[in-house]
Amino acid sequence: MAVAVYPGSFDPVTLGHSDIIKRSSQIMDRVVVGVLNNNSKTPLFSVEERVNMLLEITKDYPNVEVCSFSGLLVDFVRLYHADVIIRGLRAVTDFEYELQLAQTNRVIAPEVDTIFLTTNLKYSYLSSSIVKEIAMYGGDISAFVHPFVAGQIRRKLAER
Ligand code: ADP
Repeated sequence: MAVAVYPGSFDPVTLGHSDIIKRSSQIMDRVVVGVLNNNSKTPLFSVEERVNMLLEITKDYPNVEVCSFSGLLVDFVRLYHADVIIRGLRAVTDFEYELQLAQTNRVIAPEVDTIFLTTNLKYSYLSSSIVKEIAMYGGDISAFVHPFVAGQIRRKLAER
């Protein structure tokens, strides 16, 4: 059974992330989406809110689970007995960081490999930060995120 972990901040999950999740679920037996609870970043959404949005958008994928984690990614990968880490690649600007991350993880956990899925061209420009910025200025984000996520962003910004 091939198990993958797809880690990220998902603050919030975009259609670019959803596309990677969908494609991973078609090639792997089980996909665990790992939401990083990172103390050094100040996210817009709490880790519970990010997990909830992912649960909502993945509810139709029976082989996809969503969990939060903190600490080392390789420890999370080992906890789930995963074989691979999935990461998405958008432009060449992602490459240097992703290569460094994959190589470091391979040194500390030689049994775990990283698989890169190239972005769907439709979403190659898309990032969580861009979505937040557009929403903050009142722009229409319906082309970038699931309607449930758009609602959560509007609610969050209205609270501020
Ligand atoms: P991180 O802080 O770990 O980079 P992100 O939530 O920004 O977390 O991204 C998680 C993963 O999803 C990364 O591998 C990133 O390259 C990938 N990703 C983000 N946006 C897209 C997109 N539009 N298309 C494909 N992959 C993407």
